[in-house]
Amino acid sequence: HPPTPKQAQSVRRSFLPKFTTMHPLATRSPMKVAIIGSGWASYTLGQKLRQGPTLVQRATTWLRHVSQKLTPASASADFSQGDSARSHEVIPISATMISDRNHFLFTPLLASTCTGTVEYRNVAESVRRTLGSPSGAPSRGLTFRLDRVQRLEPVTRDGPDGQDVVGVRVCGQEREDHGVFDVVVVGIGALPAFHGTPGAREHAVTLRSIADARHVRRRLLAGLETASNESLGLEQRKAAVSFVFVGSGPTSVELVAELHDFLVQDAAKVYPIAAPLVQMTLIEASSQVLSAFSPELGSFAKSTMVRRRGMRVLTNVHPTAVHRDTIDLSDGTTLPHSLVVWSAGVEANPALASMGLRVDKAGYAEADDHLRAPGWSGRVFVMGDCAATSLPKTAQVAAQEAAWVATQLQSVSASTTTTKPPFLYRHL
Ligand SMILES: Cc1cc2nc3c(=O)[nH]c(=O)nc-3n(C[C@H](O)[C@H](O)[C@H](O)COP(=O)(O)OP(=O)(O)OC[C@H]3O[C@@H](n4cnc5c(N)ncnc54)[C@H](O)[C@@H]3O)c2cc1C
Repeated sequence: HPPTPKQAQSVRRSFLPKFTTMHPLATRSPMKVAIIGSGWASYTLGQKLRQGPTLVQRATTWLRHVSQKLTPASASADFSQGDSARSHEVIPISATMISDRNHFLFTPLLASTCTGTVEYRNVAESVRRTLGSPSGAPSRGLTFRLDRVQRLEPVTRDGPDGQDVVGVRVCGQEREDHGVFDVVVVGIGALPAFHGTPGAREHAVTLRSIADARHVRRRLLAGLETASNESLGLEQRKAAVSFVFVGSGPTSVELVAELHDFLVQDAAKVYPIAAPLVQMTLIEASSQVLSAFSPELGSFAKSTMVRRRGMRVLTNVHPTAVHRDTIDLSDGTTLPHSLVVWSAGVEANPALASMGLRVDKAGYAEADDHLRAPGWSGRVFVMGDCAATSLPKTAQVAAQEAAWVATQLQSVSASTTTTKPPFLYRHL
């Protein structure tokens, strides 16, 4: 039960100056936090930390703290000598973001940049500009460092149950030592999975960055130009506008739909000779497109796509090799192509294991229900696509986890002894 105003006042007067029990993370002020990555999870966390705890959060922390002290079970343990009268105040956070990308990418709209429906600058946010210190308020905002983190090293001290981790050193590729942090939050995402297909890494393009989107756009336009050149043979012109999409998850299906709209609505007017030659092929290894969704939705998507001119969907077939101008399929056929876009799932980033985090069989970083990496005394959090949880690898999950980690960190005061309840994902 929340304390009555009288109880709260009495606690404030008589007990607050006497607390000695500290939150395990409340080792110094301000708390130094390193955020690794600048994607959905890390950027959301950066935003939340930059905003600081809300008034409601501060009030909740204080009330939680007071009611905690009023419970008979904790009274004897917590009310002893020493400590500061301000121990109930949340500890300020000094955050440093370290990432090998200096911008946040709004991935759901990346496909639209391939056709020019949305401009590149509209899907990218400079981390320095949006999360850095605003002029005139140097104490707010976070520090950004462009680097690829390679290793995390525990700084330990003898504790009652063996060695306690009291800090984490972050080591990067460009800067060997980024310093020791009280807390490190890892959000380095996942990498595209090529499933060992020969030539895929070299000759296919993934859709994960602005550079990838530019590449797709360039190849698309180059293909349309070549196919418009009537002095070339028909087969050569057809091959120039033969686009292959591997994988039929949401990314692939969205891109195919976006490109088809572009080719039908815009390119047909500007490239009237090339547009009728365009052939788009979607390849899916299983029997259903959009296999993460219901079979009804999958069949609807497939039937809608195949009704469109120049579109075909091949299911139960997968690429066995990708070459510069052709792609071999498991049914023995070979298709010519001028562009292969590869969106066949993701795999764990090997950097997680080399950082020293405990990983599962698939290579994802293990985390408990509070998103804490095991073996780091609660000082390393893992969130987003790189975490080995049963949740889908989506921006929604990454952003919710980040917001949760932010409130977790922002409610640490010198006297709070409990952590919040476990992270719970709420599907929108
Ligand atoms: C084209 C596309 C469309 C999508 N559409 C949707 C959608 O509509 N809805 C949805 O919910 N999800 C969508 N997703 C999935 C969503 O983008 C991911 O789930 C989300 O980005 C995961 O966030 P994250 O922060 O874990 O990883 P990421 O966003 O991948 O960020 C990882 C960050 O870590 C950095 N990094 C990597 N290694 C290191 C290292 N060693 N050191 C330092 N930094 C490092 C990277 O540069 C990057 O900044 C889409 C994905 C793609 C590719």
